[in-house]
Amino acid sequence: MMRILHHTETENCDNSIQFPSYFIAKDYEHTAKYSKFGSSGMRGLANREITPQLALNFGLAVGSIYSNVIIGHDPRVSSEMLESAVVAGLLSAGSEVVKLGMAPTPTLALASHDFDCGIMITASHNPAQYNGMKIFKKGMSFDTKHQEEIEDVLNKERFRYASWEKTGSLGVMENALKKHSETILKNTKSASLNIVLDCGCGAGSALTPYVLREMGCHVITLNSQPDGHFPGRNPEPDEENLSHLKSVVKATGADLGIANDGDADRMMAVDNQGRFVAGDKMLAFFAVREAKRAIAVPVDSSRVIDDVLKGIKISRTKVGDVYISEELNKIEGDFGGEPSGAWIFPRISYCPDGILAAAKLVEMLEEEGNFSTLLDAIPEYPMKRGAFPCQDKKIAMIRITEELEKLGRINALDGVRVDLEEGWILVRPSGTEPKIRITVESKNECAGLYKVAEEIVKGAIA
Ligand code: MG
Repeated sequence: MMRILHHTETENCDNSIQFPSYFIAKDYEHTAKYSKFGSSGMRGLANREITPQLALNFGLAVGSIYSNVIIGHDPRVSSEMLESAVVAGLLSAGSEVVKLGMAPTPTLALASHDFDCGIMITASHNPAQYNGMKIFKKGMSFDTKHQEEIEDVLNKERFRYASWEKTGSLGVMENALKKHSETILKNTKSASLNIVLDCGCGAGSALTPYVLREMGCHVITLNSQPDGHFPGRNPEPDEENLSHLKSVVKATGADLGIANDGDADRMMAVDNQGRFVAGDKMLAFFAVREAKRAIAVPVDSSRVIDDVLKGIKISRTKVGDVYISEELNKIEGDFGGEPSGAWIFPRISYCPDGILAAAKLVEMLEEEGNFSTLLDAIPEYPMKRGAFPCQDKKIAMIRITEELEKLGRINALDGVRVDLEEGWILVRPSGTEPKIRITVESKNECAGLYKVAEEIVKGAIA
């Protein structure tokens, strides 16, 4: 059955898996009946779980509700196939459709302001054999209510087929990348840093280097040709996948390294010493500089943020950039982000934008100087994560909540988090696997606190 992914959940998938060149879809014939959106849309193995049939029905469902749709895709090998099927569904339902072509997700999000909705064909940071669909409305990911509306039409197959003379027409938008780059450049100052940029052969391969060069920087590019096989590295910009970037930054003496994910809505960085900048540190770095009044961060982010921001309201949300955007909109926040590399600058856009984030980072460093010195000024607290197999997550979580309540005040927004004097414990049921996950952070050492959490979870699943 198709898996519903949430942004921070690391995919347990192997990029080296080899599939036969054809496939009999017998085991997957009911996939469309069980389709459902997660916080990151719909994702799965291309042509097996995310089939053209499913994409066609998805297009029919969206077209049954929205009459004016823009669609774009990342460079994945299966993206054009899926886009064609979605477009056929939209046209069949009578929608007017405009194609953006291959573009970053934030470009599509920006363009969606002029349409009823925008569809992006992408599997974001997942390996090459995956693909999926994500929907946007007025520059933001669909909220839960709008997702459920589509889901309902899709699962009940209540499609609105247009009569033959009312089937939709198809157009092309040519200036979306230009509009996106202009928006970023208008909102950032010029800079003259030396940058090594790893686009990961993703959708940002043209736009990110263009924007940084237009700002005045000298840019050395790695993996900057779009390629749906992602031959250079896995699309997820985590430390493991950025070893080449780290060594080139060091070898060239660059001021920093920048990396995007497959659809360029995420950005991660490497400092001038070639050190990977951890997500929580990057979050604190941006937040200190952007926060004026209020910010939004997920419930699993470090307490460093509370310690470096004084007098700023910090809203903690469920894990997933959709929830950060929703909250920022509600509280009229200045900045939001997730340690996974999704950074939101709401004065410019409510969609995480890996190109804008790169430009903002460069602008800050141009003004303030040495990246590693600035990073070293931000504290870092030890964090430990673990996962425990659990078949009945619901029952286990009830028991775990009872135990955690005895320790202190809990926040049950997404899993259960309890904040204590020395640190915090978060216990969350996995959204995709029969597992319960623990995250523990402490200002000194976290082994003791982890042991407490581990005993509670083990006791609950026994
Ligand atoms: Mg992404």
